[in-house]
Amino acid sequence: AKETGRGRTEYYQPEMDAEREERNMLEIDLRIAIERRELTIVYQPVVDARTWRIIGIEALARWNRTGYGPVSPDIFIPIAESTGLIDQLGLFVLHRACETLTLWPELKLAVNISPGQFRDPAFALHVASVFRKTAADPSRITLEMTEGYFIQNPERARAALAKLKQLGVKIALDDFGAGFSSVGYLRQFGFDRMKIDKSLVHALEEGGRAVDLLQATVALARSLEIPVTAEGVETEAQALQLRLTGCDELQGYLFGKPMSSEQIDIIYRGNRLP
Ligand code: C2E
Ligand code: CA
Ligand code: CA
Ligand code: CA
Repeated sequence: AKETGRGRTEYYQPEMDAEREERNMLEIDLRIAIERRELTIVYQPVVDARTWRIIGIEALARWNRTGYGPVSPDIFIPIAESTGLIDQLGLFVLHRACETLTLWPELKLAVNISPGQFRDPAFALHVASVFRKTAADPSRITLEMTEGYFIQNPERARAALAKLKQLGVKIALDDFGAGFSSVGYLRQFGFDRMKIDKSLVHALEEGGRAVDLLQATVALARSLEIPVTAEGVETEAQALQLRLTGCDELQGYLFGKPMSSEQIDIIYRGNRLP
């Protein structure tokens, strides 16, 4: 134990130091990886709920940490968010994905946006600059956001959203059903799409209240004329039920895991055969 300035005693906790140390190392390596453009992007197919044909892709960041192997986005995205690296990371993903989209003139693109990026007053300007540099068509692009920032700071969120929508890009409410999601936000903020979180999709198996909740939610979204995508679809039974409930787009391992652009290209070409 050692004395602190105010006369309190702090006990040395080796586990906590080790954890902090590991996090610092992760942050340093992540910073280097972003600067060296070492992050990669995978694309997950989004299909039409009726035809099961690919109509779009969601871009997801991947990091293969030198000397360690792949690190999950559930680990490195929160680190990027808490260290401010997310601005750079997010724009890198958007830029790369917009460039790649030119390969597939008939597909839509979804890109995830963190609240931290959204908070930057210049965010819409950065997005506009990416669209200009890549000659991407904003009407084919959806930015996916969770409701957190909208609850915390509704006025600023509304203003930021309006700036983005002026660019012609679409905005989806992501992870619906994973937290305290309220359909009220859909209308209030003018979201263009609702994405049902995989946790709600997987709860379908249990039957009962999850099914009721899902049906009520999708019915409400549809009454507002807001289209619905379900993520995490793994079985045909889920796909069928979601389709019957009114989801118009599906995404999940049943249709394809996140994959390289080369693999998307094969699916895209197959899709276009007569
Ligand atoms: P998300 O936006 O909700 O993305 C869906 C996650 O579910 C992805 O995990 C995807 O690989 C996974 N998934 C898709 N289909 C299935 C399925 O059928 N079953 C199961 N069990 N999982 C499925 P991933 O790629 O690990 O990403 C996790 C989260 O990290 C994302 O959740 C997103 O919030 C965040 N993320 C990933 N890339 C980015 C990025 O470029 N920017 C930001 N801000 N966040 C990102
Ligand atoms: Ca998403
Ligand atoms: Ca989700
Ligand atoms: Ca998410």
